Amino acid sequence: HMWIPGVRERTLIAVKPDGVQRRLVGQIMQRFEQRGFKLVGMKMLQVSEELLSQHYQELRRKPFYPSLLHYMTSGPIVVMVWEGHNVVRTSRIMVGDTNPAEAQAGTVRGDFSIHISRNVVHASDSVEGAQREIQLWFHRKELMDWDCYDHNSTYQL
Ligand code: GDP
Ligand code: MG
Repeated sequence: HMWIPGVRERTLIAVKPDGVQRRLVGQIMQRFEQRGFKLVGMKMLQVSEELLSQHYQELRRKPFYPSLLHYMTSGPIVVMVWEGHNVVRTSRIMVGDTNPAEAQAGTVRGDFSIHISRNVVHASDSVEGAQREIQLWFHRKELMDWDCYDHNSTYQL
């Protein structure tokens, strides 16, 4: 099909253990679907500390890192890959500020959370970061290449 710049961009979104506990998975996924993004990968898993230490490699020396590991391994999470134009930046806006106290109403964190230590979701923060995280969390075979039939209604060709 026709090539549209940036449409194949992908990002990693995860519903953290507090979001799964609070049964927010459906509501969070709904926001990405209704926005027009395409789901290309999804799974539920109990994360190992080893995977998390790679995922959060740049936070290893932060004082909150041990509690972050404890939080993220406290129960199952749901990881997803969403695809679409500018999806990395748009999903950061949809997710809201890292600190829920600063997150706008209408964002996932702004609507569903109060404290930075339980902020419900993860979203990659750059295109390069997203590529790194997707490779870390998913095998190539777990990512679906499929055509969305309403593509022409979502994007100008
Ligand atoms: P994000 O990209 O918006 O998730 O934020 P970061 O990459 O900076 O941090 C990763 C995650 O670490 C955040 O989503 C929080 O769950 C947690 N975190 C970040 N900063 C703090 C902090 O100051 N205190 C605590 N307890 N957790 C934090
Ligand atoms: Mg981050």
